[in-house]
Amino acid sequence: MRIDVVTALPNQLKKALDLTVVRRAGKGIELHVHDLRRYAEGQHQQIDDYPYGGNAGMVLKPEPVFRCIEALNSSPDEVIYLSPDGEHLTQSLANTLSLKKHLVLLAGHYKGVDHRVRETLVTREISVGDYVLSGGELPALLVMDAVLRLIPGVLGDAQSALEDSFQDGLLGAPEYTRPASFRGLEVPEVLRSGNHHKIAEWRDQIRQQRTRERRPDLWQQYAAQVQA
Ligand code: SAM
Repeated sequence: MRIDVVTALPNQLKKALDLTVVRRAGKGIELHVHDLRRYAEGQHQQIDDYPYGGNAGMVLKPEPVFRCIEALNSSPDEVIYLSPDGEHLTQSLANTLSLKKHLVLLAGHYKGVDHRVRETLVTREISVGDYVLSGGELPALLVMDAVLRLIPGVLGDAQSALEDSFQDGLLGAPEYTRPASFRGLEVPEVLRSGNHHKIAEWRDQIRQQRTRERRPDLWQQYAAQVQA
């Protein structure tokens, strides 16, 4: 998979990439960070301007974004604009994106990007939640982490990602490690039994219980799917 990130803050983004699973992404994963300013014109390499209509704040200009994405000289599967009004980033969306070959992530800034970019270049808009951040870099990092950890070879144990919360519509099971007894707190007996059938049953039961209690919305969806 190839990911190109278009940003006004390339250096900060590159530093922050170390916080994500991207640092482990090896063979078969190509990552490029593009500085929007390199595609701006004029002495001041201006990438933003005042909004039409007299609102406060600044807006990312369309020309540098168009030039940057056109300079890639390829046809990405998706050009994704990170935006609070986009579709929510979910595990199911991460699964879908992990099957693509080439993604472009556009990080907005200020009040966002000129709407003509969204109407023409952008194929998908993703929000990381119902709150507003000051730039699209953190959302881009979240998307990359969620997507890349699903690609075979990125995580040490491929099975691990499949057992995570949301992957099959339920929350994950609680995890324990050694010691078996710690300050009077015991690891559940069944997990120490070595009986894989019983362990799977216990996990399934506790995942359903936790989903019912913590996320009734998810539980409803899951129950409806199982019934269908
Ligand atoms: N004026 C925009 C609005 O009301 O929706 C908010 C702009 S925000 C201050 C600046 C940039 O941060 C956005 O263009 C977007 O790229 C990014 N951003 C902020 N919150 C985000 C979120 N929840 N999900 C994805 N991107 C977000």
